[in-house]
Amino acid sequence: MPAVVSGLTMAASGGSGSVDRTLRVGVFGLFKPVRLELQAGPLPSLLLEVGEEQILLEGAQRAQFRLHGTSLECRIREYVILSRSIRAGARGGKPARFLLSVPGRITRNFSGTLQLTASKGILVPTVIMDAEMATGSAAMAESSPDVADEALRAQVVATRSYYLGAPARHLDFDFCDTTHCQLLREPPDHESRFWSAVASTRGLVLAYANRIVPARFSASCGGRTTTLAAIELRSDGYPYFAVDCAYCKAGARHWERRWSLGEAEWLLKQPISEA
Ligand SMILES: [Zn+2]
Ligand SMILES: [Zn+2]
Repeated sequence: MPAVVSGLTMAASGGSGSVDRTLRVGVFGLFKPVRLELQAGPLPSLLLEVGEEQILLEGAQRAQFRLHGTSLECRIREYVILSRSIRAGARGGKPARFLLSVPGRITRNFSGTLQLTASKGILVPTVIMDAEMATGSAAMAESSPDVADEALRAQVVATRSYYLGAPARHLDFDFCDTTHCQLLREPPDHESRFWSAVASTRGLVLAYANRIVPARFSASCGGRTTTLAAIELRSDGYPYFAVDCAYCKAGARHWERRWSLGEAEWLLKQPISEA
């Protein structure tokens, strides 16, 4: 496929594609959270801005949030405060490490600043994080632990290209933390090979006609890749090509999903999306 090889280049990102950007990543949306808990860590404190109040969350103290009508109720120590939105981070609006939980479901550590709002009857936690931090976190979540170094570096470049090249995909934030955008979990350890792959490819993105390509990828193509046009999705400028893939053909994963007639009819009436 010479057209693919000659058209798609590796470029150093710059301008609006700068790796110094921050991204707004909506997290835990899959759990439709109505309660959340926040704890500082590993640094001993986190500064919360709840409405007009500033409260320091220290050590193992936890802040608990839940919906109160269309507002958020925040409980910390003896305080109970209602607010429309809550922010948490280090002093001066700087990023911090923190632990966020949907009680009884999931706890995950993040690095960035946290913004909490309410929308359509659920809490919407958004982590505003450095694009390279998001790239490392998503590349690690999307890769198997034993991935070869060069494959990992390729994944990092594809992941970064997607984050820097795609427009915001959600109303309340830019990207979610599921495979709808890119799977994103905790940030990689700075000593890990995942972080080395981020550092050693810093600034590298896939480009076509001087624009960053919001690179799409999948775990398995089933033996032949699919163009976005073939599934009636916009290609955002890059003319995708379908190619045969011997690797997936030899080991294609098969899956099956069954719907009732009613569900299938409802699905067919929905706008086409890869979600
Ligand atoms: Zn998404
Ligand atoms: Zn394949």
